[in-house]
Amino acid sequence: MSAEVIRHVLGISGGKDSAALAVFMKNEHPEIKIEYFFTDTGSELPEVYDYLIRLEAFLGQEINRLNSERDFEYWLRKYNNFLPSVQQRWCTINMKLKPFEAWIKPTVDQGGKIISYVAIRADEDRSGYRSDTPGIEVVFPLKDANIDKAGVTHILKDAGLDLPAYYKWRSRSGCTFCFFQQKIEWVRLREEHPDKFEEAKNLEKTALSHGSPFTWSQHESLEEMSKPERIEQIKAEYDNRLQRVKNNARASKRLSPFIDESFTDCEVDEIFDIDEVYGRGEVSSSCVVCHK
Ligand code: SF4
Repeated sequence: MSAEVIRHVLGISGGKDSAALAVFMKNEHPEIKIEYFFTDTGSELPEVYDYLIRLEAFLGQEINRLNSERDFEYWLRKYNNFLPSVQQRWCTINMKLKPFEAWIKPTVDQGGKIISYVAIRADEDRSGYRSDTPGIEVVFPLKDANIDKAGVTHILKDAGLDLPAYYKWRSRSGCTFCFFQQKIEWVRLREEHPDKFEEAKNLEKTALSHGSPFTWSQHESLEEMSKPERIEQIKAEYDNRLQRVKNNARASKRLSPFIDESFTDCEVDEIFDIDEVYGRGEVSSSCVVCHK
């Protein structure tokens, strides 16, 4: 009888946690042959694609790109031109989960086992991607090793990777038009990647003209958000929040054993505050598949 096939797979989202998990596994468990994958919607941030290349150089191996057979505009038409939303996340299902399931299917069909490494940290309380499919086991090495948000940054700094460049202006990886974005992040997308902002605006216009109940951002269209007075208002609200959070942050420094003198002020701020600064909790405002 032939031995059971076991595949170890680790999804890279373009975010800091999954990158840190990949580094952690390479450093701590070099004996495990891990297959890395990135489910590419074709609409990810340019900074994400750059970071994948840097990560591949560190890992010394390729990250498999798993593409949906269809692009975002195909799926948009398929869903009656209704934009995806937190309630109707057809984008993640069709462009992230299904390509992953297709990739592992031959192994599962042949009775093999998939061990999926998911980047849930010790300071998070959520289960991550789970599958009902027999033969898939999900493991959480960062959580098991008691590694929190500061620990993740530490791992990336030590590896010479630092955080992906988009963290300077946006809090999450994922599609350029991701509806999980906060209003300040839309404003910055417009500044950082004006062509991507225009693309999102055009998709939204098409959706609204077909009766979509959703805009990308709650309660206003990107057209409305592009008005100079609205941009100023969003920036001012963000600055006020940032100031408030910074005032509280210093006192929290001692909470993580991973933070030491090698951390810059900016990095300490990012570790403690980013979710608060952007005005929401991380778990409710992101998706394990797209944003870890
Ligand atoms: S990043 Fe956002 S828009 Fe893209 S697939 Fe994930 S949830 Fe959908």
